[in-house]
Amino acid sequence: MNTAVTHLEDYDTEQRFGATIVSSERITPEASDVEVRELTLDIQQPDFELQLGQSVGVISPGTKEFGQKHHFRLYSVADLPERGASGLPRIKIAVRRVSYVDKYSGEQYPGVSSNYLCDLAAGDTITMAGPYGLAFEVPEEMDANLILIGTGTGIAPFRAFVKHLYQNVPEWKGTITLFYGAQSGLELLYMNDERDDFAQYYDSDTFEAFKALSPRPTWAAPIDWDGALAQRGEKLWSLLGQPNTYVYVAGLEKMRGELDVAFSEIAGSSKKWARRRAELVAGGRWVELLY
Ligand SMILES: Cc1cc2nc3c(=O)[nH]c(=O)nc-3n(C[C@H](O)[C@H](O)[C@H](O)COP(=O)(O)OP(=O)(O)OC[C@H]3O[C@@H](n4cnc5c(N)ncnc54)[C@H](O)[C@@H]3O)c2cc1C
Repeated sequence: MNTAVTHLEDYDTEQRFGATIVSSERITPEASDVEVRELTLDIQQPDFELQLGQSVGVISPGTKEFGQKHHFRLYSVADLPERGASGLPRIKIAVRRVSYVDKYSGEQYPGVSSNYLCDLAAGDTITMAGPYGLAFEVPEEMDANLILIGTGTGIAPFRAFVKHLYQNVPEWKGTITLFYGAQSGLELLYMNDERDDFAQYYDSDTFEAFKALSPRPTWAAPIDWDGALAQRGEKLWSLLGQPNTYVYVAGLEKMRGELDVAFSEIAGSSKKWARRRAELVAGGRWVELLY
């Protein structure tokens, strides 16, 4: 498994390259308050190589106000890399436009990198670095059970990963259970009424997907993991006890606590869950990509 790099300043951003925006498409419905855009980028480095589950770095102009020369943020690659018409490597990233609230003043500021990216148009060029990390690997056992749990933009790496397994790994005989959490149905990226990239796998006996939504979307209530996971508690607990089960988690940091609560309930106690989780982590069978 990869060595975790926990601080953004620890990333090596020396190897930089340019990328041109091919297109920028909003992938959340207009009715949703959440704006996520899928950006397609041509990498201006013909030998650029990317492995599945890796992230790319974006270096945007920093704000002078905070004395920043540049602002560095990471984005998961949301699809399998391909080559564009010009023969250059082409990738996709899904970017959510976010803002942050100052803890002390309560004022809201637009996030530098996400707003920079969401405001770009076809033909614009940006500076990137990377790729970084090797978050999710195909298990060695071809009959493994994969449990994928994502929230919001955390679905991006799973979209590429599931596609890779079904398209490029013919020996794969394992099962994939995807749990996807969002505040409301409108925020389910790649799995909504207009666009469901996972629909092509629903007929397969080896793929299952479950949605977990918030019971009160407008109140920013937590996602109902309990409902989605606890309902399948017995099956999940039995899977988690098998040596060929792998759990991959992607999305916002706060998921960790929410999942601990849901899995403690399934396990019967937080102590039992902590023990099982530690075993999974030690065996490289619980891997997180949290931000
Ligand atoms: C390995 C890794 C992979 C990532 N992949 C993606 C990705 O595929 N798509 C993506 O949009 N972001 C992704 N991020 C987050 C991204 O790097 C930035 O942190 C994010 O775009 C905000 O940057 P900013 O400069 O606009 O605002 P910042 O000032 O850095 O952050 C503003 C606030 O927004 C919150 N926030 C950050 N990202 C999100 C998000 N995705 N959804 C909801 N709230 C968020 C932060 O907690 C913070 O409070 C990833 C982060 C890591 C570490």
